[in-house]
Amino acid sequence: MIRQYELVDMMKAYDPDVNEDLVNRAYVFAMKAHGSQKRASGDPYFSHPLEVAGILTEIKMDAPTICTALLHDTVEDTEATLEDIRKLFGVEIEKLVDGVTKLSQIKFQSAQEKQAENFRKLILAMSEDIRVLLVKLADRLHNMRTLQHVKPEKQKRIALETIEIYVPLAERIGVHKIKEEMEDIAFGILNAEARDSITTRLNFLRAEGGEAVVGRILDELRAKLAEAGLRAEVKGREKTRHSIWKKMQRKNIAFEQLSDIMAFRIFVPDVTECYHALGVIHGLYPTVPGRFKDYISLPKPNGYRSLHTTVIGPENHRIEIQIRTPEMHEESELGVAAHWIYKDGTAKHDQTSGKQMRWLRELMDIVDQAQKPEEFLENTKLELFQDQVFCFTPTGDLISLPRGATPVDFAYAVHSELGDKTVGAKVNGRITPLSTALHNGDQVEITTAKNQTPSPQWERFVVTGKAKARIRRFVRQQQRDQYMSLGRGMLQKVFKQEGHDLIDRNITQDICRHFKTENAEDLFTGIGSGHISAREVFYAVHPEERIKDNPPVEPQIALTEKKTHQKGKSAPMPIKGLIPGMALHYARCCHPLPGDRIVGIVTTGKGVTIHTIDCETLESFADTPERWLEVSWEEGEDTPESHVGRLLITISNKPGALASLSTVIGKNGGNITNLKITNRALDFWDMIIDVYVRDNKHLNDIIATLRGTPEISDVSRARSR
Ligand code: MN
Repeated sequence: MIRQYELVDMMKAYDPDVNEDLVNRAYVFAMKAHGSQKRASGDPYFSHPLEVAGILTEIKMDAPTICTALLHDTVEDTEATLEDIRKLFGVEIEKLVDGVTKLSQIKFQSAQEKQAENFRKLILAMSEDIRVLLVKLADRLHNMRTLQHVKPEKQKRIALETIEIYVPLAERIGVHKIKEEMEDIAFGILNAEARDSITTRLNFLRAEGGEAVVGRILDELRAKLAEAGLRAEVKGREKTRHSIWKKMQRKNIAFEQLSDIMAFRIFVPDVTECYHALGVIHGLYPTVPGRFKDYISLPKPNGYRSLHTTVIGPENHRIEIQIRTPEMHEESELGVAAHWIYKDGTAKHDQTSGKQMRWLRELMDIVDQAQKPEEFLENTKLELFQDQVFCFTPTGDLISLPRGATPVDFAYAVHSELGDKTVGAKVNGRITPLSTALHNGDQVEITTAKNQTPSPQWERFVVTGKAKARIRRFVRQQQRDQYMSLGRGMLQKVFKQEGHDLIDRNITQDICRHFKTENAEDLFTGIGSGHISAREVFYAVHPEERIKDNPPVEPQIALTEKKTHQKGKSAPMPIKGLIPGMALHYARCCHPLPGDRIVGIVTTGKGVTIHTIDCETLESFADTPERWLEVSWEEGEDTPESHVGRLLITISNKPGALASLSTVIGKNGGNITNLKITNRALDFWDMIIDVYVRDNKHLNDIIATLRGTPEISDVSRARSR
């Protein structure tokens, strides 16, 4: 059993200014509280919290965490109360102990994979502080170490729970050291035969001279790296039995090669030397294709960094090599715990190094940025996650979002670029509207398109600031671009009417200043938005024309502007995303209807033409993206005006066929406004029919009914000229 002074000494080794008094008091309190209680092994119960504290010193945790470990079972199993803890140790430790106690009360129910994931999520959400989770993991590890003393059925249940819940949690927060040991013990309980056979085989391979081979490989690697001038340390490491087993299951093979059981690690002082060492290794030995992984430039989601490669190494042995710095190694062993660094005797969260676990970084975004880094540890409150949802990327990366967040928020949280290019989403494998609120544990897959841009509509349902800001900025920029191109077009038109060409150098600094604008772009924007008269700008460039035009003809542009203004007031635009008053046309190729996904194409001097997003005509605008305008229908706006939908119909050449056609359309509330026969064959006629309808749903209803009409052999919506 660890003695009191030993525990304090272990802590002093990494935190010289540790609050000894606090730890000592917790030690004594827990020892007294547990009194003569015994564990299943017959050991005094107190040995358990003490060992848990010991495990946590190995990952260099701070004094409140160690105290929590010592006290973690007192409230649950002894007379002690939370009030006692608060009075004696303060609110911080009280909360930590309370957190661990609550975690111990949740019961793992089902072994279903989906359930296990939810359970892990629940544990994350219930851990009000990351330290609660670390104490819980250390608690579980010690219980695993002493599991042989409980009944076999209970052993199995606990081992299963460990492998399903706690091992993945430890992995997710990167505490490799705890993860591997828990996993190995659980493996022995759940599949003793497999583990034994692997142990036997390992012993056999060692006895067969494996150890000597490993020694020679190490010698050669060390010598070669030293020759290259690298200060490298090389170590051989036997893989864990569970990882060997998993590989055997996955690949359905027996292990024979050295690379099946051993991995080699090269430690170098810094990142540059990692790549240098890699160069040396790859220069000396043939590499095994497809096995090189650069987790330094692209760390794993849990923050893991290292270079991995497999080569045909010394004596033609296939060997796996990991290259890393001691710092990377520590991070891979301790995970999230590696980021408690001790400087000036105080535990600080290493906020500046940028090496935090990905999801901790997310958390930091939530925590007020104004806070001092020293306060971060205390404020790493997972309780913030109560109003969060946790969703997973297809690769299992955990993304935390505020409650109510949608797939668009998710996409922006993963990456701004991903958000901008989003076109659709699959949640748990099912296609889902972008406005759907996500739930805890959802796996979200975002589909993107290269030419997609943020839709102003998204702003209505996104909840994260990041998404909102991105969308707004985009919309504003786009609007400005529109105004600018419109303004330039308007000015060009005035110049042309007056028999002049608009050339860039006409728009001098003086002209811009005269209209109180910074530059030509601003001037065009001002014209486009209706703040500056195009004709006035023309007169400023060609003052002589003002006299000629006397008495001045009411300029056409001014007329448009006036009309525009009035219209903007009385009738709201049926389309969102347009500058109020912009002239609007519906494309005659695709006849867009409310409910269709649409885009606007800016036609200089003519305003905007609305096309359906799948209109074939759009291809001709592919190389002028500046003319594309993100627009959508004004939802819920009761547009009394009907829209024209165009149908392509193939109908049997039979008496009465046309009558059935018009009856069906009429009965469905559609009004035929135009009909044109485009092809007359013996049996079938092709025709185009324009119908007044409310929206695309209305037209789709008509199409559906037409499809059920015997005389009609084919019907579809027009998509192009
Ligand atoms: Mn315990």
